[in-house]
Amino acid sequence: MDYQDSLEFAQHKDQIDSLKDFRDQFHIPELNGKASIYFTGNSLGLQPKTTAKYVNEELEGWATLGVEGHFHSNKRPWFEYHKFSKETLSKIMGANPSEVVSMNSLTTNLHLLLISFYRPTKERYKIIMEAGAFPSDQYAVESQIKLHGFDYEDALIEVHPKEGKNTLDIDDINSAIDEAGDSLALVLFGAVQYYTGQFFPIKEITEATHKVGAIAGFDLAHAAGNVPLSLHDDEVDFAAWCTYKYLNSGPGGISGIFVHDKHGLNPDTPRLAGWWGHDESSRFKMEKGFKPMPGADGWQTSNVNIMSSAINLAALEIFDKAGMEALRKKSIELTGFLEFLLKKLEGIRIITPENPAERGCQLSLEAKKNGKAAFNQLTEAGVVADWREPNAIRVAPVPLYNTFSEVYRFYDILKQAVPNE
Ligand SMILES: *Cc1c(COP(=O)(O)O)cnc(C)c1O
Repeated sequence: MDYQDSLEFAQHKDQIDSLKDFRDQFHIPELNGKASIYFTGNSLGLQPKTTAKYVNEELEGWATLGVEGHFHSNKRPWFEYHKFSKETLSKIMGANPSEVVSMNSLTTNLHLLLISFYRPTKERYKIIMEAGAFPSDQYAVESQIKLHGFDYEDALIEVHPKEGKNTLDIDDINSAIDEAGDSLALVLFGAVQYYTGQFFPIKEITEATHKVGAIAGFDLAHAAGNVPLSLHDDEVDFAAWCTYKYLNSGPGGISGIFVHDKHGLNPDTPRLAGWWGHDESSRFKMEKGFKPMPGADGWQTSNVNIMSSAINLAALEIFDKAGMEALRKKSIELTGFLEFLLKKLEGIRIITPENPAERGCQLSLEAKKNGKAAFNQLTEAGVVADWREPNAIRVAPVPLYNTFSEVYRFYDILKQAVPNE
């Protein structure tokens, strides 16, 4: 891609952007009385203008139908609600519709999946994660290891980057897996690392994991709606995501899980059960004896959170219209443009991988000095970015609603915050 260091170039890119109309479908937050440069879709995605309509339809259904809304006349009967997101989710995840379902929130889902897929024995009990994984994932894994009576320090293997590097090479991961060998029960990686923005090679990690007889799971919090996924073909065993980041489904929004059909269609796969995972044709007979729904649906425990799911459907409809392929194509150009510009700034170092195949839209920046001060200057100038301890400014130009012009203006502001000597 031939980029140019000019606002005119950025404006031209915006004009010929086939996805340019999508920006207008979102509420853009203001900062200091004008539209902000919102580069924090990796933390909380923006609200689609259709969200209120989706939620109001369900409020209306509740008001007018009461309990009848579960089955009757409502556009989307609540009894079936978890089914309405399946088609789009399966496209975003690269999965069969039977392999995905929306439910609960992310860390809760990680626990439910770990109960099913972390089945340690005396010999095979270790878990590999990337070093510096998101704290909630670390706590979840720590507590699961302890729950099974193992020693956390002994059972957890963290893969660190090589000396002087910020991100992992595939051989770092492969050799950790090989070394653990028969003692390895599970590999759990964030598919896109929240701090560095590295997009890990899911297929290769899964292959290496299976080769030593272990299970491969991924946390897709920063991957869902951001990067192309093919969970089914990559033979991933399980995964979970939240929807309030790139999937624009609101704070604390409903999460989702992926269970590969090879496990999900087997009713004997162990799990913690609840009535919504029970065979739907006999669910209301209220009988003894759990009979799981086939597929990921069999992991549902409670009845569906309708309001949260309605918000999710509004956002998924937009993804359906835009298409992940077009979004990824723009994303690569938009983030590439940001990278091209930021490389001109001597005071900034990009820690996210250079190869577009190894990242999503986020770039993580380290200021060589006064990082926090530079970040504060960005905020004052109308940029909503994200500061992560110890020293990262994370910026995510999101292809659905961010523009090339915003990327250019961001660069212009940052140039003043960290002037070249
Ligand atoms: C955002 C994020 C979470 C948040 O977990 P919740 O249960 O939704 O609060 C967990 N893990 C990762 C990797 C994340 O990026």
